[in-house]
Amino acid sequence: MKILLLGKNGQVGWELQRSLAPLGELVALDFDSPGPLKADFSKPESLAATVQSVAPDVIVNAAAHTAVDKAESESELARAINAEAPAVLAREAAVRGAWLLHYSTDYVFDGSGSTPRDEEAATGPLNVYGRTKLEGEEAIRASGCHHLILRTSWVYGARGGNFARTMLELAQERETLKVIDDQIGAPTGADLLADLSAHMIRAVRADASLAGTYHAAAAGETSWHGYASHVIAFARAAGVALKVGEEAVEAVPTSAFPTPARRPLNSRLDTGKLRERFGLVLPDWRWGVERMLTEVLGR
Ligand code: NDP
Repeated sequence: MKILLLGKNGQVGWELQRSLAPLGELVALDFDSPGPLKADFSKPESLAATVQSVAPDVIVNAAAHTAVDKAESESELARAINAEAPAVLAREAAVRGAWLLHYSTDYVFDGSGSTPRDEEAATGPLNVYGRTKLEGEEAIRASGCHHLILRTSWVYGARGGNFARTMLELAQERETLKVIDDQIGAPTGADLLADLSAHMIRAVRADASLAGTYHAAAAGETSWHGYASHVIAFARAAGVALKVGEEAVEAVPTSAFPTPARRPLNSRLDTGKLRERFGLVLPDWRWGVERMLTEVLGR
């Protein structure tokens, strides 16, 4: 099997380099990869030549415009990267009979209510990022290519910056922290998504009827405040010196931190379809966060 991985240096892309490697020949690209093969999603049509030249059996697209607030002021770029580029990949996959695995987000929903949404729930994005990601999904489904679309939420990786690291840095500098407590979701590890992706690729290659759109997130739920409190308690128990006390993490509403992009309050995803169809288990969010913290803290 030949796999073309795009966006190889993002949070999920980095972990995919590891998880996809045993499946076959892996060609992994980023937008500024050296050599003749380019994968610049801001020039969607240029991706066709890259796909044709690599001639993959499976395309895995981990590239995206993920800067949710910035997307509000650069909607054309966000649309090119999140919607038009995936449409070109889907078209090329359909022509070749290749599979396309693509990632999307709970931000395709409006975040109303307090129950988890399944894959059939009505969409209603609140911001440019969500709208462009939804357009990307729709283009893939309309293309007729063999595809898997994994909608996920609150992704973190051990490499590079992430919410937990930011909270730890702030907790070392300040005596109190204010963190939003009315957005609810499940922090999901890039490593978990990458491992799910590898298992799912193997499964769909054996049984094409498994193709489709799936919700993929860690089990359980929390708020950003609950997430931050867990991170701080774990770090303190691991012996990290922090100025802030766990009780000094103040819960505030979303309105306390105005941002250019509106965010959904309910990011809960019902992952039953994925677990049932693929026979996979999704661990509790705390398990992955604690693994990541153990790596980040080096203890
Ligand atoms: P990252 O932002 O970490 O990675 C995205 C990658 O896309 C980066 O390597 C980035 O490069 C690359 N990229 C940006 N612009 C271009 C371009 N013009 N051409 C080629 N590559 C480009 O995202 P994640 O790994 O966190 O996200 C993976 C997927 O999961 C995405 O589809 C995202 O929408 C989805 N998702 C993410 C969530 C999250 O919380 N992060 C939540 C829900 C879904 P560079 O860094 O150099 O700009």
